[in-house]
Amino acid sequence: MAKLTRRDFTKLSAAGIASATLSSGQADAASGSPAALASKISRGVDLPPAKGHRVVVIGGGWSGLTIAKYLKIHGPDLDVVLVERRSVFISHPISGLWLAGMVNLDAISFSYLDAADVNGYAYLNASLIDVDRESRKIYTDQGWLAYDDLVLTPGVDYNYASLGVEDPYHEQLLKTRYPAGFVSASEHISLKNKVQNFQGGLFVLTAPPGIYRCSATPYERACLIASVFKKTNIKGKIVLIDSREEPAVSAEGFLSAFDELYGDTIEYMTSTVIRSVDPETRTIVTDFDNIVFDDASIYPRIRGARLLEHLGLADPKSAQMEAAIDHFTYNAGGDKHVYAAGDCRPMPFSKSGGTARSEGVYLAKLIAARAMGKEIPWESPHTVCFSMVNTEPREAIMVNGKYQFDKASSQWGHFENFAINERDEAKGEKALEWAEEHYRDMFG
Ligand SMILES: Cc1cc2nc3c(=O)[nH]c(=O)nc-3n(C[C@H](O)[C@H](O)[C@H](O)COP(=O)(O)OP(=O)(O)OC[C@H]3O[C@@H](n4cnc5c(N)ncnc54)[C@H](O)[C@@H]3O)c2cc1C
Repeated sequence: MAKLTRRDFTKLSAAGIASATLSSGQADAASGSPAALASKISRGVDLPPAKGHRVVVIGGGWSGLTIAKYLKIHGPDLDVVLVERRSVFISHPISGLWLAGMVNLDAISFSYLDAADVNGYAYLNASLIDVDRESRKIYTDQGWLAYDDLVLTPGVDYNYASLGVEDPYHEQLLKTRYPAGFVSASEHISLKNKVQNFQGGLFVLTAPPGIYRCSATPYERACLIASVFKKTNIKGKIVLIDSREEPAVSAEGFLSAFDELYGDTIEYMTSTVIRSVDPETRTIVTDFDNIVFDDASIYPRIRGARLLEHLGLADPKSAQMEAAIDHFTYNAGGDKHVYAAGDCRPMPFSKSGGTARSEGVYLAKLIAARAMGKEIPWESPHTVCFSMVNTEPREAIMVNGKYQFDKASSQWGHFENFAINERDEAKGEKALEWAEEHYRDMFG
């Protein structure tokens, strides 16, 4: 494995300074000086002028792709632009099956151009830098663009300080060598390479505290990596470290899979809080022990995308720096022309693709209705999640749930909730059907 040294890190830091210049520009702009950016980014993006009410959606993940599509369904006259920094969509859901060699990369890779063409909106391959909410303009690395309504769906970032990692060099090493595999496709590729090339020993996975992206995945991933070790005769042990007493979701289904299918490969370490991680000595310090690992994929606590903070739209009271929104209309920062949705939201909804999609359908309907001067009642998102726990045969478990708000206690609760913890092949097939149905919906 190529080694990253402190000298290399100095070079990285130099690159960091360039982006930090941008960040401080963003921060300035958030505090009221987008004029500074306007003087630098004076050209408009290469798009035809708006044909009517323009809704700009930032972020082409499960949330943004759904919102852009359903805006055109509920408001065919809306001029919709999806701004996404990636040029290819690689899906997180089903990436675990790719990791385990059950599907090809093609099965989870899609073109933003196809999505835009089939669904009748414009795709702008650009990164959002700042927003001037007064003049309703966004600034991207490709120029500026005016909006009537703006929807932010930038997803999440990691919080490495939650692992007791404060040294920027260590943070960079952790991100590079032991990526969590919950935000970018490059992380998935590195993780797959790690699993395929593992020479044996201790492979550590972690499940973060708080509400994290896809609550079933750390447990599903342990099963899928264990199945690869079994299939390829790798003499490896997986230690899954969790601060909880049992898996965050589908506990019974995962515990029986660990026990019955991977008893000699997976050690599930419960009620274990990580105090610090040293990527140089490959040591995790917990309340009880020092764990020295051979390889790892370390998942820190997540937080709302940092972009929201730069824009002054993160809630400082939120432990995970999620978006400051009205829970029913998704309006951000009290601005009736700005919305935020998807995994960056603060509500205790599952941070999952299916949830982001169903929520996005409602939000698109709301924005389209408002453009016509109407309001619509709130609709709960719907969470459906299949987890593949066995690969030969392909067997899965699943959970389902909706959400309701109790005004008396000001708390969110669940309804129509159920889990099916008995793994079987029928659910294994449904896991793939669920994904294909969603890909068809987003990409036509
Ligand atoms: C391994 C894994 C497995 C999963 N499995 C499942 C599953 O089986 N079922 C399920 O329902 N969910 C699953 N999930 C969760 C699901 O992927 C997320 O909940 C979902 O992606 C959230 O959608 P989002 O649009 O909010 O965020 P994202 O999908 O992260 O999209 C955010 C987008 O915003 C873009 N962006 C950010 N900043 C900018 C900027 N400044 N300018 C332009 N673009 C920007 C990013 O490039 C990204 O494309 C899984 C997640 C992982 C990691």
